[in-house]
Amino acid sequence: MSNLPESEAEAANELMRLAKEIAKHNRLYHAEDAPEISDADYDALVKRNNAIEAAFPNLVRPDSPNAQVGAAVAGSPLSKVRHEVRLYSLDNGFSDEDIADFVARVRRFLSLSEDEPLCLTAEDKIDGLSLSIRYEDRKLVRAATRGDGQVGEDVTPNALTIADIPQALPDDAPELFEVRGEVYMSKAAFADLNAAQEAAGEKIFANPRNAAAGSLRQKDARVTEARPLRFLAHGWGDHSAVSGDTQTDVMRAIEGWGFPLSDHLKRFDDVSELLEHYRSIEAQRADMPYDIDGVVYKVDRLDWQQRLGFVAKAPRWAIAHKFPAEKAETTLEAIDIQVGRTGKLTPVGRLMPVTVGGVVVSNVTLHNRDEIERLGVRPGDRVRIQRAGDVIPQVVENLTRNEDRPAFHFPETCPECGSEAVAEEGEVDVRCTGGLICPAQRYQRLIHFVSRGALDIDGLGEKSIAEFLDAGLIHSPADIFRLRKHRDDILAREGWQEKSVDNLLAAIEAKRKPDAARLLFGLGIRHVGSVTARDLLKGLGKLERLPGKALEIYDYREANPQMEAESDGKFKSRMDEKVKSILEVQTDGIGVAVGFALADFFHEKHNREAWDDLMGEVDPEPFVVETRESEVAGKTVVFTGKLETMSRDEAKAQAERLGAKAAGSVSAKTDLLVAGPGAGSKMKKAQELGIEVIDEAGWAAIVERAG
Ligand code: ZN
Repeated sequence: MSNLPESEAEAANELMRLAKEIAKHNRLYHAEDAPEISDADYDALVKRNNAIEAAFPNLVRPDSPNAQVGAAVAGSPLSKVRHEVRLYSLDNGFSDEDIADFVARVRRFLSLSEDEPLCLTAEDKIDGLSLSIRYEDRKLVRAATRGDGQVGEDVTPNALTIADIPQALPDDAPELFEVRGEVYMSKAAFADLNAAQEAAGEKIFANPRNAAAGSLRQKDARVTEARPLRFLAHGWGDHSAVSGDTQTDVMRAIEGWGFPLSDHLKRFDDVSELLEHYRSIEAQRADMPYDIDGVVYKVDRLDWQQRLGFVAKAPRWAIAHKFPAEKAETTLEAIDIQVGRTGKLTPVGRLMPVTVGGVVVSNVTLHNRDEIERLGVRPGDRVRIQRAGDVIPQVVENLTRNEDRPAFHFPETCPECGSEAVAEEGEVDVRCTGGLICPAQRYQRLIHFVSRGALDIDGLGEKSIAEFLDAGLIHSPADIFRLRKHRDDILAREGWQEKSVDNLLAAIEAKRKPDAARLLFGLGIRHVGSVTARDLLKGLGKLERLPGKALEIYDYREANPQMEAESDGKFKSRMDEKVKSILEVQTDGIGVAVGFALADFFHEKHNREAWDDLMGEVDPEPFVVETRESEVAGKTVVFTGKLETMSRDEAKAQAERLGAKAAGSVSAKTDLLVAGPGAGSKMKKAQELGIEVIDEAGWAAIVERAG
């Protein structure tokens, strides 16, 4: 877990962000069956939220994800069910060696002699939705989804609509038995369903698995009934007795009760035959009526399964042998460029639609400029694409490399805003430099501009920025200072009253003479964080001097192209020195990266216009470093660990005011280490070097003594 927020404001902001994000993923997962993040990533968000709520209990929001979870259960059409016997997951193997290792591990665990046969079952692994169906007194009493393996959702009425699932078991079945398997939709049924959905203007499902999940988890079982769902049994859970001594015996008994099993379920006592079976299934894969993603092997003898038991959530007696990614050939019809929220230009290949493993693919990511060059792809080429799991399909090979057609030229300007698009030295990603005006980046940039570390405008948060952007009231930072002209427009909007509008406008007016370093940081220029912004202003004094200096760097770079071309370290260090001398700074952290980022930013005409526009609205305070007499003047101080009463930036600013230099790492030049709780390697190093270490209170006393 990363550090907790340092202040209430920070905590409140993060809780708000988390509440929104978790709600979004809940909706995607539960209502739309189209999750965008893994369960582990989702859990991490919830954990982070809970940790902050625990540390700042007074900030718990009315729409806290925890409050929501309770509400979701109560109000949810599907109630929760605790599984008597958990649904396990399977370990994965990808190569023949992985499977040989698995077999060897099992033999070792059971201390089998070399001539003792080890029988394994093999069956294809359907890409569906796990379901556990409970029979008491041979009557179906409950069907529940896997959920997290321990708690699932009750879908009994829905399961009853699936023809493959018997409503009662014959008299020879045990009194209590849970059959487990996969609910799935065939490829053909999936295509028909999507066609019907599309014709009706309804949601299109991404793949058969999502369609099956969405169809089963309906509050109205009549919807499920109308969907062509199938079921295939592959195991069992809670039971009062089993009919046989082996996996095969029990599965055949289940089949006898009326459940379909895989046609490919077979038993082997020889690993090479097992692998042959795997390859035969793989060869038939494209023609199978349903999506599969591998073959599952299980130790056949139940007494051995018992002895082998479980590691964490997976049995030691089973493994899933996954198939490699599925491939297909098609034509690359066009290459489009998308601009992300950070300004990154991503090429997307538009394909002649092709089916890969039951899913129609019409777009592929081409990653970046280098990837296009590597593949040598041009619109019109035949390409081989692959799709692995839910990952976005990609091009693995260009089959034609037809040089007669015009080559694809990666754009040098942003397709969204026309600003220059450049790749930094040593980087493959090309980015739009029109950060202030690019529509793709606008929202994120404006949020950053008003954020706490930048202009810190009270009452102007993500929600209002989004609202004003959508309403066309703001486009660039300067527009924020012109919002007062739109007072009536804002008042007319829902949720705004005289008082809230006037408070907001007053908060904006209060920032008309902003701190120059905060304003510079707020521009969101790459590599210019809050500390670098301060360092730059220490050299320049006045922010107004910056564009001229940045253009000087640009011209110098243009006039000395060999410096960029040479990767020799000498040239870089000469360029570093040049950048420093132009910017009149001595700070180590400022060099080529910062200098070139400033150069690219201010060379972009759109940014200069936005800058001039902004400077017409604000009057930044000249930057003065006030230094006071203090016992740490001229010394180098390092802060580490968690600071309780101030942020790291504030501590560094204090050090500067006391005439000390705040450094980021401990070295022989360090004079003093201020260590909060959780200080790690820096503390150790300081102790090794014999550097004086004090705590936050000790530092506060030094500040206090300086008066
Ligand atoms: Zn742009």
